[in-house]
Amino acid sequence: MSEFKYVYGPIPSRRLGSSLGISPIPKKACNYACVYCQLGITNLMTNTRQLFYPVEEILSECEAVFDLKTPLDVVTIVGEGEPALYLGLGALITGLKKITDKPIAVITNGALLSEPSLREELMNADIVLPSLDGHDEASFKKINRPHKALNYETVLRGLIDFAHEYRNKLWLEIMIVKGMNDSDEAIEAFKSLLTKIPHDKLYLNSPVRPPAKQGIGEADHKRMELIAQELGGIAIDYLSESAFHSDNKDDFEAILTLIRRHPMNQHELKAFLAGRQNANFTEIIAKLEECQSVEAIDYKGYRTYRLK
Ligand code: SF4
Repeated sequence: MSEFKYVYGPIPSRRLGSSLGISPIPKKACNYACVYCQLGITNLMTNTRQLFYPVEEILSECEAVFDLKTPLDVVTIVGEGEPALYLGLGALITGLKKITDKPIAVITNGALLSEPSLREELMNADIVLPSLDGHDEASFKKINRPHKALNYETVLRGLIDFAHEYRNKLWLEIMIVKGMNDSDEAIEAFKSLLTKIPHDKLYLNSPVRPPAKQGIGEADHKRMELIAQELGGIAIDYLSESAFHSDNKDDFEAILTLIRRHPMNQHELKAFLAGRQNANFTEIIAKLEECQSVEAIDYKGYRTYRLK
C-alpha cells in the first residue's frame, strides 16, 4: 500500500486514546517556534492562513482510510505544525462529519482564535484542544517565540472569546517549562486567567520528548503535581499506554511515516514491532541509525527517533 500523504496512525494519544491524525499543512508550517517543540525547528514560519492542499483531496484520502475499518477512537486534525493555518479547515471538518461518526478533534496553538472566521469554522468540531503556555507577554515570547505579527493580548482575547462561543468540548493545555512558567507567580497568573476561559478540562503537559531548543527541561514530578492541584488540571503521564498503528505493510516504511509526525522512542518502537510480529528490532534500529533522513536523539535516558 502506498504511503498516505495526509493521514497517519492511529497513534496513541494520552488525551484522546487511539487517534487517527490528519495533517492539512506542510511539514512544520507554524506561527510559533516553541522552545519545547518535538517536531524540531519551525522551517515555514507564517501567520497567513492558506489553502495548502485541496480539501477534496484530503477527504478522499480519509475516505480510503476509513474503508480499512482500522479501530480508532477519534479523528484528530493536528499535523506537523499549526493546523489552523489551513484555510480549508472548516470545510474539512464539515466534510469529515459526513464520512465518519467518530468525534473530530482539532489540536491548535490558539494563536489565530482572534479571527472570527476561524472561530466559526471550529464550531463543528467535537473537541478543540487549544494551548496557553504564557501567563504574560514575556513568557509567551520566551516559550512560544511567536510570529512577529502576534501579541499576547490579542491571542488571549481570541481564546477567551472562542471559549465563550464554543458549545462542544474545550480541553485546554498548558505546557509547563521549567524556569519559564512554573514559578508561584506564574501559577497565580494562570489561576486568574483560567477563571476567564470556560473549559471542560485542563491538561498540564511537560516537554517529555526531545525539544527544539537545547536545555529545555520539565518541572519535577512534585512541582507538576502541585501545579495540577492549584490549577484544577490533569498532569499528563510520561509514556503512552496504547499502541501506535500504521496501515503501511512495510514495517520500516510504517515507522518512517509515524516518526514524521510523532517521534518514537526505542520502547515504543519495540512495542510497535512486537505488535506486528516483527522480531527484528535490532535490525530495524540499526537501519534507523543509518538512515540519513532520521535524527536520533538521546533525551532523558531514552533514544528517540524523528524525521529530519
Ligand atoms: S509545538 Fe506546536 S505550536 Fe509550537 S512550534 Fe511546534 S508545532 Fe508550532
